Amino acid sequence: MKLSPLVNPGPTLSADELRRYSRQIVIPQFGLQGQESLKNAKVLCIGAGGLGSPTLMYCAAAGVGTIGIVDFDSVDESNLHRQILFGQSDIGNLKVEAARTKLIETNPYVQVNTYPVRLDASNALQIFAEYDLIIDATDNFATRYLINDAAVLLDKPYVWGSVNRFDGQAAIFWSAHGPCYRCVHPTPPAPESVQNCAEAGVLGVLCATVASMQVNEAIKAITGMGEVQVGQLIIYDALDAGYSKIEVQKNPQCPICSENPTQTSLLDDYELFCGSINEISAEALQSKIEKGEDFILIDVREIEEFEQSRIPGSKLIPKSFFLDLTVLTELPHDKEIILHCRSGIRSAQCLEVIQRNGFTNSRHLRGGILAWEKL
Ligand SMILES: [Zn+2]
Repeated sequence: MKLSPLVNPGPTLSADELRRYSRQIVIPQFGLQGQESLKNAKVLCIGAGGLGSPTLMYCAAAGVGTIGIVDFDSVDESNLHRQILFGQSDIGNLKVEAARTKLIETNPYVQVNTYPVRLDASNALQIFAEYDLIIDATDNFATRYLINDAAVLLDKPYVWGSVNRFDGQAAIFWSAHGPCYRCVHPTPPAPESVQNCAEAGVLGVLCATVASMQVNEAIKAITGMGEVQVGQLIIYDALDAGYSKIEVQKNPQCPICSENPTQTSLLDDYELFCGSINEISAEALQSKIEKGEDFILIDVREIEEFEQSRIPGSKLIPKSFFLDLTVLTELPHDKEIILHCRSGIRSAQCLEVIQRNGFTNSRHLRGGILAWEKL
């Protein structure tokens, strides 16, 4: 789809900048105008991980004038095979800080804004409002739906990418010109069918392939160069080195981007929307604790386990009290109840007991305290 530039050319470039970008300014379709549009553009990248690393490096090197990075995580050794923004000396440091240092070293003419927060319904619209285009470099469905919804509500293009083992996909969702993510994926996949990078694995170099497809679409949208791939899923198979495209349509009944949307604001809880309604992730639990939300957290393990390690604020009620129903008198009816055990098996059994007895405002921690300790 041929579109006019998303961003108009901004202030003229200095002699140093003209030298720096001379190899792309010389391309006729790109030219000085394209470079000035990039300088004037504000791009937000959610996630500074496998997709975020090459995305951010190419955005900075190409001369995107303002780059925002949202990521609450720190650099871990297991990141380094694919998260090429970081090196050994960055381990343990906040990703956004390490990223900013590296990007400014790559190109001192770009401004880098950092957001060391978890993106959620309380902050997404405010952060997105400052930017022209959003790049999704995350690996979970809850964040994808959140990014999509915020991008649709603010009428901003959303460049999506996904990697899994040897398979890569990218797309630009832009409800003003074509489908949004919800048009293509109206409902999230069943949580038990979803594996993340840590579980499924990902070929490091594939991240660069997909990220470069994403940045390419972003640059084309910003400058108006070429055909922006709105309404297409771009698919890459690293094993046979083949690209293909699938056409995707706008859904006239889409809850958020159709003419008469049923959803006109963000959902309160995207984890809940994407997860089994009976489960909560360790990340979401941590976020609830940080926000001081009012709920009761119950550890259903045995006392010896509780004494060794526990989640702050949790209360011990071992599983046997659930099975003989003596727990029922201790539970509040007016508060959300979250149960956890070591890995999520005992807590699921206890949850079933209390839900059968009328405590329906209850969930259990997916992966138990083991998942919590990996945060
Ligand atoms: Zn839609």
